[in-house]
Amino acid sequence: MESIIFQYFLPLILSIVRYFFLCGIPFILFYVVYKKAFAKSKIQAQLASKKDYLREIAYSMQTTLVLAAMAVLVLKTPLSQYTQLYTNLSDYPLAWIPLSVVLTYFVHDTYFYWMHRAIHHPKLFRRVHSVHHKSVNPSPWASYSFHFFEAILEGLIIPLILVLIPMHTVAIALFAFSNFAINVYGHLGYEIVPKWFRQSVFFHIFNTSIYHNLHHTRFDKNYGLYFRFWDRIMKTENPEYVAKFDQIQENRFGSTTPSKAV
Ligand SMILES: [Zn+2]
Ligand SMILES: [Zn+2]
Repeated sequence: MESIIFQYFLPLILSIVRYFFLCGIPFILFYVVYKKAFAKSKIQAQLASKKDYLREIAYSMQTTLVLAAMAVLVLKTPLSQYTQLYTNLSDYPLAWIPLSVVLTYFVHDTYFYWMHRAIHHPKLFRRVHSVHHKSVNPSPWASYSFHFFEAILEGLIIPLILVLIPMHTVAIALFAFSNFAINVYGHLGYEIVPKWFRQSVFFHIFNTSIYHNLHHTRFDKNYGLYFRFWDRIMKTENPEYVAKFDQIQENRFGSTTPSKAV
């Protein structure tokens, strides 16, 4: 009995710990302890209100509950037979663990982009996605601030990747932890990428905190999660992104970026 409770409640407890650990530490560092030191890295000058933080935490707890329930449903019930989850390390080459995580990021990015665009349809936006967009000036607490139905849509990535991709439990854990950390970065409210990032190929591939912050101020652009691919292909990238990125980085580092880089 004890082990059943442990098995079923462990994903929920881990998700709650993950949320407060990965959102709480950046919040304390950026919004409390080193607020002045990071002032130049702030994307929007003003701060969100306490009311915003509390609403975001409440919705995030609901999302955590939904996602943990979905994980239990997929991993701990007979439904798990439809997944390609494996626990025996020798079933696939060891290198498949990091490779499967990378592949999962591409699948998740594609799923997220199209799901995200769908919930921006006026009818779905009003009823579902507007909860997330109440945070026009996001903080780490907004990372899981979703309507109940959006939480389910977000959580569908779990069965989707487990049906499509053979994944070791370690790979799933790596994905769950790293993808949440990236989500927190997207809602951090501060830009933290180093100066060299602008001149590197990574600037053209990956989203940044500024990128997603712009989605919270101008709703109809920058739908992507990890990468810029889909927004570029579908012409939904905010045309002001590069200028805004350069402006924040200039605030932080005090020098301009080369005009040739776009
Ligand atoms: Zn967001
Ligand atoms: Zn949105």
